[in-house]
Amino acid sequence: MDNNLQDYSHKRYNILTGEWVLVSPHRAKRPWQGQNETISNEQRPAHDPSCYLCARNTRINGEINPDYKDVFIFTNDFAALQTTSPIFSVNDGLFKAESEQGICKVICFSPDHSKSLADMEVEDINKVVEAWQKEYILLGSNEMINYVQIFENKGAVMGCSNPHPHGQIWSQSTLPNEVEKKDQHQKSYYDKNKRSLLGDYLKQELEVNERIIYQNDDFVVLAPFWAVWPFETMIVPKKAYTNITELSASESLAFAEAISKITKAYDALFQTSFPYSSGIHQAPTNGENNDHWHWHMSFYPPLLRSATVKKFMVGYEMFGSPQRDITAEQAVDRLKALVK
Ligand SMILES: [Zn+2]
Repeated sequence: MDNNLQDYSHKRYNILTGEWVLVSPHRAKRPWQGQNETISNEQRPAHDPSCYLCARNTRINGEINPDYKDVFIFTNDFAALQTTSPIFSVNDGLFKAESEQGICKVICFSPDHSKSLADMEVEDINKVVEAWQKEYILLGSNEMINYVQIFENKGAVMGCSNPHPHGQIWSQSTLPNEVEKKDQHQKSYYDKNKRSLLGDYLKQELEVNERIIYQNDDFVVLAPFWAVWPFETMIVPKKAYTNITELSASESLAFAEAISKITKAYDALFQTSFPYSSGIHQAPTNGENNDHWHWHMSFYPPLLRSATVKKFMVGYEMFGSPQRDITAEQAVDRLKALVK
């Protein structure tokens, strides 16, 4: 790798979105005088009577959660998208709008209120993976649904209101912005080369071996060359599958293992339950040919240099491009040492 990338400001290209990130490695040593976050490392009980996600508790709409033993899924009581919205569009001069229908679900990863994915056994994470697969099929087969977004918002720093281990699945009639960009870039590469864009990228990453954090037979965990967040990572299947339902049983387990490895390394990094937003980008369920898709899972963690210093996307990031100081390679060196 060109040494200039570790010493001088430059911008890196995101092949999936067509966007650039500004990297300023020379700034990484400047002193921090900004805001410190308060991170709670308190031990939580296995069952919290006031938590609306714990088993047997009553949710705000009056429904009682079942006495679930592993994964529990329900339709979001305050969904951002609804199936009952009328279909309409607005085309009034320069005012343009379209109706959007969808279904939003909440998925509890475990009945144990005190755990996170990082604390769970690989077999139990695999139950979450299997539930994601079922929901992708179930929601995706709905005529109205053309895209299924699986994600997790973890930690108060990320605005997550409930510490119970859970994620969300928002499914909708159109492709959201990030997915639309990735769809287009993967499609144009595939049409031209007849190969997966991420497959070729993965090949190059494995050859140079500078940003690989962990790999097993079926998956690679790496910091993408174009990573924006200080400790951003991506889990990529070695085979160019378009969606998570194409995994065999043993590949699902290998995916769960990869999730376990990276989330454990994250928690070890600053000795804290590491906050992040993670999400899976995969082929739309629009009934079209989506052979150009190579699904992947991304982790966007906000912490910068300790459990209490958060990276803010403000100022230049809002008005120009995302910017980072520590390089992806420096982040990889630290995470790699923590993979057990
Ligand atoms: Zn709970």
